[in-house]
Amino acid sequence: MGIREKESYSSMSNAKQTECDTFASRETLNTLVETLPGALFVVDDTQTIVYANARAQAMLGATPEELRGNSFWPSAPQLVSTALYQAVLRTRQTQEPTEVEYGSPVTRTWLHVQLAPTVGGVMLHIHQRRAPARRQERVPTSQPLSGAVLDGLHAGIAVLTPEGIVLEINEAPLDGAHMRREEVLGKPLAEAPWWSFTPAGQEQLRDAIARASTGETVRFETPVRPREGMLLHLEVAITPHVNADHHLEYLVITGIDITARKRAEDEIRVLVDAIPQLVWMLRPDGSTEYCNQRWRDYTGMTFQQGQGDGWLQAIHPDDQQPTLVLWQRAVQTGRPYEVELRLRQGTTGDYRWFLVRAEPFTDAQGQIVKWVGTSTDIQEQKRAEEALRQSQERIRALIDSNIIGIAFNEGEEEVIVEANDAWLHMTGYSREDVRSRTLTRAAPLFERALQEVAARGQHAPSETELVCKDGSRLPVLVGCVLFQEQPRQMVGFMLDNSARKELEQRKDDFISMASHELRNPLTALKLQTALLQRQLAKQGIPASVPALSRMETQLNTITRLVEELLDVSKIQAGRLEYLQETVDLDALLREIADTMQQTHPSHSILVHGAVRASLLGDRDRLGQVITNLLENAIKYAPDAQTVEMDLSASEDAVTIRVRDHGLGIPREQREKIFERFYRAADPKQRAIPGLGMGLYIVAEIVKRHGGTITVDSEVGKGSTFTVTLPLTRDA
Ligand code: ADP
Repeated sequence: MGIREKESYSSMSNAKQTECDTFASRETLNTLVETLPGALFVVDDTQTIVYANARAQAMLGATPEELRGNSFWPSAPQLVSTALYQAVLRTRQTQEPTEVEYGSPVTRTWLHVQLAPTVGGVMLHIHQRRAPARRQERVPTSQPLSGAVLDGLHAGIAVLTPEGIVLEINEAPLDGAHMRREEVLGKPLAEAPWWSFTPAGQEQLRDAIARASTGETVRFETPVRPREGMLLHLEVAITPHVNADHHLEYLVITGIDITARKRAEDEIRVLVDAIPQLVWMLRPDGSTEYCNQRWRDYTGMTFQQGQGDGWLQAIHPDDQQPTLVLWQRAVQTGRPYEVELRLRQGTTGDYRWFLVRAEPFTDAQGQIVKWVGTSTDIQEQKRAEEALRQSQERIRALIDSNIIGIAFNEGEEEVIVEANDAWLHMTGYSREDVRSRTLTRAAPLFERALQEVAARGQHAPSETELVCKDGSRLPVLVGCVLFQEQPRQMVGFMLDNSARKELEQRKDDFISMASHELRNPLTALKLQTALLQRQLAKQGIPASVPALSRMETQLNTITRLVEELLDVSKIQAGRLEYLQETVDLDALLREIADTMQQTHPSHSILVHGAVRASLLGDRDRLGQVITNLLENAIKYAPDAQTVEMDLSASEDAVTIRVRDHGLGIPREQREKIFERFYRAADPKQRAIPGLGMGLYIVAEIVKRHGGTITVDSEVGKGSTFTVTLPLTRDA
């Protein structure tokens, strides 16, 4: 500071007394202030300009009329600074002159301001310089952040008077708003474009400033509009600054651009609303902080209704207590929380099962700040689980019923992996044997069944023998179900067949014995009858001949029955013997047809074609086949007139077809009629006498000759039996 300025400063500090001095006229005073080298302002207590000298007018580029009566700060934005504002306050408080030097952020010049109290106001005498006149250390350094640093920040920072007038502002917000600093400085922030776009926004800021002026730090998030077409989201903090005497000096407002974060949050919210789960956040005390749209849609509750512990109401009454217990445990331990519970669907009132999980969310200190949870609808899964449980229970009950032996096999080796008690009992194996997973011996049992399954998708239970642990053989009826192909998994069923087999054996033994026992007396009876017939003829008593011949016919019938019985028991025991002779089939067939025609005049037996071949076999047995088929054709076609026999041959086989026009055989019985003692169930057929042995013997003989027998039939229309015999054995 130069000598002249010092002088003028001292003359200024004396101005107060001068004002009171009687010798100095107002004119003199005016001239004096107008000649001062700096700009001079006098402001009153409301900081309204009451006087500005010519230099002051020049500095601000305004007429005295434009200045006088107007507020100082908006009128002189290039002078506005926190330092000057503080100096004005200080001068008013202390009523002592002071001075301050600072760089104007608007003009980029250095300002040296001398301040002195006046009656009801302050006088400011301002000098403008290119460089600081004073040593830096003499300048108050209450602000550690330089203008340059603040201007480099992305955040918006401003210093406000407690009334909300901008004293300082950094570059970032000005940039965004395309504004010059002087357009903002000295004016209420609420009227700047960021805030002025909505009355609500303005009101919010004014409120916040008013609250901050009472000493409170105020934070809020709000949208602002720096300029037309640009909307930002700011996180705003207003911090009051107090001096050593606890007097509020100014407010610092910061605004951090959180637009990107908000957008990300919005995106997350959209995402959270889009996922099928119900998503929610609870505060550490269990009260609701957030729940997504789906939660609200599902429960039919509003966010407000879900507030506090309102969410509990959506939980099934039976699940509320356990849920709370688990929740409290989670809160105590800070561990993730997981529970299955039923939630009520708001629209229907029905409950559905949900899997509820929540993870604690901690702050830097490890303190839980919230719980983030999801509820996933598992109703279908629950239903499937329940169905599975029930099905498993049913299967368990079936397995444990122990009515039949059940064993589960796995893999190519068909290792038995599980078996029930009945199976263990039948086989003599122990549970340990099964557990060892070394039992594979059951496999051959099911071989045939599996082949049938592969070929036809199913199989009929079959009789076989099981080799038990002790080597003994147990007759069983087995069946199996292949329920997985790769790796192979199947379940085998086994029924102890020994009692039936024993009974059958006893029956076979009886038939064999009975037929033997019957045959001898029958043979004797037949001989005696023949003898008697001859003797009576000799004695000339011809009247008895018809009676005796009827007796002989009956005896022949009985003999045939006994022969058949014997054949059956021989077949059973595998002891039926066959001769090997060359058989002239045509001759044999004709002979049989002739004989049959004589004994059965009711039907015409028509023979078509010829086989013209001989084959190697048992003539009588082959004759037995044809006789039986012709007898049946006549017997089961009581109302028909003809029975046809078609003969044909190919290079390697002869085919004999016996066709009738009788009752026919239902499809389901066509296989069975070749079984031992099987007779059709139909009452019409039952009325026709028979023992169900003929076709069994026929099939066996055909089989032993390497041939096949099949039947084709239509109920009510008739049947055709086809016998095919190979000619490979032709002599
Ligand atoms: P059966 O002594 O009962 O005739 P078979 O073994 O010869 O015994 O025949 C078995 C069953 O097959 C008979 O009971 C009958 O129901 C049926 N059957 C056999 N041949 C015929 C046929 N030509 N027409 C209709 N049903 C027949």
